[in-house]
Amino acid sequence: MSKRDYYEVLGVDRNAAEEDIKRAYRGLAKKFHPDINPGDKQAEQKFKEINEAYEVLSDSTRRKQYDTFGHAASNGQGGYGGYGDFGNFGDFGGFGDIFETFFGGGFSGSRARTRPSKGSDIRADLELEFEQAAFGITKDVTVRRQEKCSTCDGTGAKAGTSAKKCDKCGGTGQVRYRQNTALGRFETVRTCDKCHGQGTIIEEPCSQCGGSGKVLKTRTIAIKVPAGVDNGSVISLRGEGEPGERGGPSGDLYVYIRVKPHKIFARENENVYCDIPITFVQAALGDEITVPTLDGKVKQTIPEGTQSGTVFRLRGKGIPRLNNRGRGDQYVKVLVDVPRKLSQEQKELLRKFDEISGGGAGQPNKSIIDKVKDAFGV
Ligand SMILES: [Zn+2]
Ligand SMILES: [Zn+2]
Repeated sequence: MSKRDYYEVLGVDRNAAEEDIKRAYRGLAKKFHPDINPGDKQAEQKFKEINEAYEVLSDSTRRKQYDTFGHAASNGQGGYGGYGDFGNFGDFGGFGDIFETFFGGGFSGSRARTRPSKGSDIRADLELEFEQAAFGITKDVTVRRQEKCSTCDGTGAKAGTSAKKCDKCGGTGQVRYRQNTALGRFETVRTCDKCHGQGTIIEEPCSQCGGSGKVLKTRTIAIKVPAGVDNGSVISLRGEGEPGERGGPSGDLYVYIRVKPHKIFARENENVYCDIPITFVQAALGDEITVPTLDGKVKQTIPEGTQSGTVFRLRGKGIPRLNNRGRGDQYVKVLVDVPRKLSQEQKELLRKFDEISGGGAGQPNKSIIDKVKDAFGV
């Protein structure tokens, strides 16, 4: 019997990664599975061929041997190993099972049911004022979560009774089924239907929790928000989620921070930004202005001839850094306010000012004017 190359069978490259081999195998196995092609001898043959190829190529040692020695490296059974080989890639029987096995980790999942598992994580949202995020605060959040029932201490059994080992599965949570079909013998492992995979049976359920061992509670939890958190920061509290299963640890609580916008300040990381209007007289003559900061008002000197849009930096007036290493800065941008309404007297004075300036007062930036003249040759 001439055998096809395993790579060719799975339609993958000789250098294909493990993942690609797996993907190719799943696709083909689904297509040629006997349950999808009842009575189709060719599909059956193909299915066996695919499985054999996968069995070798998915095992790094056997794959290496095959790469070196070709089919001569195979186990000497002289061909397809028979239906018993199915056991090598998971016990499955029915049609639904093959999909579970391939796509959901169905069996490994059900096997885990009798082992301790971590409880679910829960989420809460917390809205903070700008200053609260900057300097930190302790704030309450309310969460609704499952908690261990205190009446039965989470066992689910009525006081004075206890859960018994399931007699159907012997406490494993799984039942094995053997099935003889035309294609050979299949062995299927299913979740025990009597105990639903728990491995134990509660004969007299706790009246408080109905046997689940858990009750839904509303809890208020004080959250210590550190200084420097920002919009989108997440604070995690270990063990404040839902209780674990079979003695597993509780899940965690994740608190998502939202920071309300501020009337004056904007923020980028640890720096604070604000715009301050000044009059054109202040800009021209210079002045000392008052600037709001997170720590209160401070004085800032505006030098003579300050242009609109000039930015002054106030060192250390920004947001505290989360790791306690100092603070960011505040950047103050001054915007020169041109008056919209002037009295006759004010206009008079400005005209006079213009006159004294030789008519150039309306053209504040000499160098720009020169550039325009150069460009247009006027
Ligand atoms: Zn209970
Ligand atoms: Zn059972």
